[in-house]
Amino acid sequence: SPYTGPSASDLLHRRKQFLPSTVGPVYTHPLNLVEGKMQYLFDESGRRYLDAFGGIATISCGHCHPDVVQATVNQIRLLQHTTVLYLNPAVVDFAEALAAKFPGELKAVFFTNSGTEANELALMIARLYTGYHDIISIRNGYHGNATSTMGATAQFFHKFNVIQTGIHHVLNPDPYRGVFGSDGVKYAYDVQDVIDYGTCGHVAGFIAEPIQGVGGVIELAPGYLPAVYSIIKKAGGLFIADEVQTGFGRTGSHFWGFEAHGIVPDIVTLAKGIGNGVPIGAVVTTPQIAKVLTQRYYFSTFGGNLVSAAAGLAVLKVIEKDKLQQNAFVVGSYLKERLSTQMEKHKIIGDVRGRGLLLGVELVKDRKLKTPAKEEMLQIFERMKDMGVLIGKGGFHGNVLRITPPLCFTKEDADFLVEVMDYTMSKM
Ligand code: PMP
Repeated sequence: SPYTGPSASDLLHRRKQFLPSTVGPVYTHPLNLVEGKMQYLFDESGRRYLDAFGGIATISCGHCHPDVVQATVNQIRLLQHTTVLYLNPAVVDFAEALAAKFPGELKAVFFTNSGTEANELALMIARLYTGYHDIISIRNGYHGNATSTMGATAQFFHKFNVIQTGIHHVLNPDPYRGVFGSDGVKYAYDVQDVIDYGTCGHVAGFIAEPIQGVGGVIELAPGYLPAVYSIIKKAGGLFIADEVQTGFGRTGSHFWGFEAHGIVPDIVTLAKGIGNGVPIGAVVTTPQIAKVLTQRYYFSTFGGNLVSAAAGLAVLKVIEKDKLQQNAFVVGSYLKERLSTQMEKHKIIGDVRGRGLLLGVELVKDRKLKTPAKEEMLQIFERMKDMGVLIGKGGFHGNVLRITPPLCFTKEDADFLVEVMDYTMSKM
């Protein structure tokens, strides 16, 4: 149906007035996106864009996937309510189905409203369970925007000067820019050093994204997480995997990012793709660890509310039915290969990395010096949009193109993206 709402310029004017933000809207001429269908978005004039960012890995099944829409609408027609006080199948069914996706003892679920809230809860659980306070997180990670999660986040432009006690940041095991290259075990020694020199010798926990998303799609050097796992265990801490971007089959080879590292965390946090755009987050842990929350009245009014839970259950079913994890693997591997081939042609590409449909292209002015090509990245970001492809930008140096499309992305979409990127780079 034709769009009859306000224009982009009118919206921009009013948004600036009432919605102060330093993050968006992005693009010199901001997009007014009014409709979505699977991997496509439509602006006010009906122009179609290929969505290769999915609002930061948020869209798992595809924009307005009919099954998820149907489940959400059915539930909101029936009842929308808190799930704290009464019984209802929507939240129990979803918790059970979600728990079935986890190995071992990871069967206790707490629903939240966002990723920040999930990580805040995870950090508090770790502190309560262990009786220790210190938390270790990796430099360049992103975990949220509230007190503890902002503390765990390790990029200065995401941190406000509020009190953030007991958070220590360790070396980033970044194979491209890190001091030890791809030697994950060497980076892990820094975790031991921080425990030895910066804490009482014990920690509450360690939190990490299996692949750093906001930080510029950085895969942790092989061997790092298993080595850290045993160090943290010896220090009495819990291991927390932040799967907000890496979960729900996005990495292709596995349903959860941590599985590629051969470890089973004590706590896993989820958000974004869990609801395909409907706000919901979750903390999954063991029943034994979960017990610490029974010492007080812990609840969230709308964490796991019926509509979000119905959407979440539909998402799990769609991932299975549409074989989205397999698709992320096949299309993601194909796309990564095609992007890597572009390195022969375009010197500006310093690195192509990631797994499945969580990919990053780091741009540099000089491959040896790895000088970040930030201005060029912004130009490519803008021009690709002009040609109908939306991608993400990020990384500490602001020079990484982030590719995190809805998981229904096809090989043809991948070809189109690469061709548009190739053309854009050739014209620079
Ligand atoms: N963890 C990770 C890995 C994230 O990428 C984000 C959001 N970018 C968060 C946590 C916070 O999630 P939310 O914005 O839903 O609070």
